[in-house]
Amino acid sequence: MSLRSVDNESTATPADADATSKFLHRVVDVGLDFKHQPDIFRTRLQPERVRDLLVFELPRESRPLDAVLESFERTILPLCKNEASPRFLGFGDTGDDPASLAGGLLALFTQQNLINQSFDSPSATFVEIAVLRWLRDLLGYGNPPVADIRTVWDVGGVITHGGTTSNATAMMLAREHKAPETMHGGVRNPEQFGVIVPRGIGHYSIKSALNWVGVGDQAIEVDTHGFRYDLAALERALRRHHGQIMAVIAYAGDSRTQTVEHLRQVHDVVRAADPRIWLHVDACWGLVAAFSDQLRHQLDGITEFDSVTVDPHKVMAVPYSLSALLVRQPSSLRAVSSYSDLIMQEDYAFGQVTPFIGTKGWLSLKLWMMMLTHGRDGLAALAEQRVSKARRFAALLDEHPQLLRLHDPDLAAVAFVYLPTGIRPEPPVSEHQIERINAVNQRIHERTLAEGTWFLHQFSLPDDHAFLRAGATLYPLRFMANNPRTTEAHMAEVLDYVAKLGGDLEGDIQ
Ligand SMILES: *Cc1c(COP(=O)(O)O)cnc(C)c1O
Repeated sequence: MSLRSVDNESTATPADADATSKFLHRVVDVGLDFKHQPDIFRTRLQPERVRDLLVFELPRESRPLDAVLESFERTILPLCKNEASPRFLGFGDTGDDPASLAGGLLALFTQQNLINQSFDSPSATFVEIAVLRWLRDLLGYGNPPVADIRTVWDVGGVITHGGTTSNATAMMLAREHKAPETMHGGVRNPEQFGVIVPRGIGHYSIKSALNWVGVGDQAIEVDTHGFRYDLAALERALRRHHGQIMAVIAYAGDSRTQTVEHLRQVHDVVRAADPRIWLHVDACWGLVAAFSDQLRHQLDGITEFDSVTVDPHKVMAVPYSLSALLVRQPSSLRAVSSYSDLIMQEDYAFGQVTPFIGTKGWLSLKLWMMMLTHGRDGLAALAEQRVSKARRFAALLDEHPQLLRLHDPDLAAVAFVYLPTGIRPEPPVSEHQIERINAVNQRIHERTLAEGTWFLHQFSLPDDHAFLRAGATLYPLRFMANNPRTTEAHMAEVLDYVAKLGGDLEGDIQ
């Protein structure tokens, strides 16, 4: 059989139903085989080689669909990274929950557009509303009775494509809260839009968002201790910049060590200094703590914040992409609403309350399916398993004399460094020794990436507990416990691998 997409404009016409169905079943098998492969990569090539292989002009002649699939499988797929490999310990989630994959596929097939409701997404809009309410409920934000959901401004949240868009929307809300109608009149006196962020551990999306919403470089970095705000420093910054602060950002799980901020304390300090400041929590990682009665205490105080970003595509086993911005007061989204005769001005049109996004697919269906199949109990188990796996990894790591853990894990991340022979974790180690530690850990990461057998993440990180040297910037390796296929044996193996590589590479470092 050979399907040609040229003779019949659409292969998905009823006449071709059988052939299309067979073909798409094959595609599902290709996808699952990919996820089930043990390796992260089947093939590793330099970027220029991949460029020269894949960047070509569109041929004139048509090709059978079979042939295109075959060419994809042969040349492109082996180069793709497989986050579901048990050796992929690097980032967020593997996106392999079967229910969420089903939701993702059905969203493709149904082609709903969440921009409007009445004709574009008659039921999808309400699935999206249900999911937003479930997320709100897990965090502890209240929900009005269903009968009182009369418009999108009664829901208290929006689905976006990622934490970056959610954070950018939050910064627009903060800007409008500080100086109403800036959206229409333009930015005046940009220095009134200061935003406090924790030094060295913030996510770049906040600074980018401030640039995008036109207030410029207004981030004010405040010192941290143990990857949380130094509250005395926060108080001083609020006093020093009084009247010039539009928002304070707190991380429920920063993107490096996933340390959860003491939210209630930050709230109390900020509100005492200036009750009009917009309080935003970036809970891209911290959402997971909301699933479990054992972990939820870490988020104490979150419901006092004006807005919360969550990133289910990082912590809920759903395929990319899916984020939500939730707001304490649902009506606050009016401040960033768009009115257009292209978006229906109907009560349930999400296009009105989702800045930066026009046409939007049914992103929330994969989460709806995932949450319904797990239920509250399943979500709690998922969160608890991940956190206990991170603690187990930490315990294994502590048995290695040359590996040093840089924090106690709150959630699923564990950051650590290899210490070259002769360097003891007794502060303060010299600046020269910090350079050696960083050089060897960067080599370890480079080598690991090039070999492709394991994947650990790397980034800069302040030595915020002063385990080595107060004020030093380290380049640690990071393990992430979000992968259900990673076993204890894998954890022990990767630690041995890092220790061995460190031993092999430390001789190259001066
Ligand atoms: C990943 C991340 C973001 C950005 O989210 P995307 O989904 O990548 O757009 C924002 N904040 C934190 C803390 C993150 O870890």
